[in-house]
Amino acid sequence: MSVDKVRGEIINIGRFLIARELTVGSSGNISVRVSDEKIVVTPSGISFEAMSPEDLIVVDIHGNVVEGDRNPSIELPMHLTIYRNRSDVNAIIHAHTIFCSALAATHTSIPPILDEMVLYIGGEISVAEYALPGSEELARNTLKALGNKKAVILANHGVVVCGRDLRDALEVLLRVERIARIYILARLIGEPKRLPNEAIEHEMEMYELLLLKQHP
Ligand SMILES: [Zn+2]
Repeated sequence: MSVDKVRGEIINIGRFLIARELTVGSSGNISVRVSDEKIVVTPSGISFEAMSPEDLIVVDIHGNVVEGDRNPSIELPMHLTIYRNRSDVNAIIHAHTIFCSALAATHTSIPPILDEMVLYIGGEISVAEYALPGSEELARNTLKALGNKKAVILANHGVVVCGRDLRDALEVLLRVERIARIYILARLIGEPKRLPNEAIEHEMEMYELLLLKQHP
């Protein structure tokens, strides 16, 4: 996909996040890896509503700015750390969604309680240890808690999701926010039960096969 097409897609998804109350103002950031030389990332300090395609920045895998006049998102180190360590990931969305942020505020991870969690996210949604926004430490903590999964909650902050492309990452974000809501509701009415171990093992095999297929 061309850089110009990616710019348009990022703008559309940013507006969708605002419209669906998945984030607010300039909180959150989006990036897409077109190649290791060209990663398109949202700038810092502009709301998604006010952002236009030419505001987006193109950087290389080391964080050098290739195109654009603005400063890249302060969470660029986190995006780059994930790309460097996950060859299957080509798009990342970080947002401050309501239900994931409630879990972030209480450092509550979501155990594997639904089949879809294992099949589409890779199992438990863990909480990355707190570190200051934009820090290399946050980048390291995020990668550690993410592992080979597609979503991670950031303590006292929000959520990060990744996918093979932007549409996939958005689907993961919608799914994770929905799962967070279900988990909070489930805890209100009873004790959520983990999936049986054999189901987790079987579904993890399917999840890993799919990852491998996406990036042999
Ligand atoms: Zn944030």
